[in-house]
Amino acid sequence: MVMIGKCFQGWGKEYNSKGICCCNCKWQSKLVKHPWNQGEFKGRISEQVKDSEGNTMWVCTVQDGVAMTMNTEHSMCEMHTPKEYHYE
Ligand SMILES: [Zn+2]
Repeated sequence: MVMIGKCFQGWGKEYNSKGICCCNCKWQSKLVKHPWNQGEFKGRISEQVKDSEGNTMWVCTVQDGVAMTMNTEHSMCEMHTPKEYHYE
């Protein structure tokens, strides 16, 4: 049986019994800095942007010119496309 990759650090099990998580989404990307930026987004491209609480920022869904950010690797958005399958 083909199963979607699971993550139990992700969404609460009562909402997500299959453990589908943004960390297993093919659209998830690191949001990184650039040396030409100003302010908190200025930095090396090897540095991930952090929010005011120190959480790393991720880009989740990119669709119709909109990129949605999340301040956790483990979450669940509406446009999930699994990047990983495994057999059980
Ligand atoms: Zn996860």
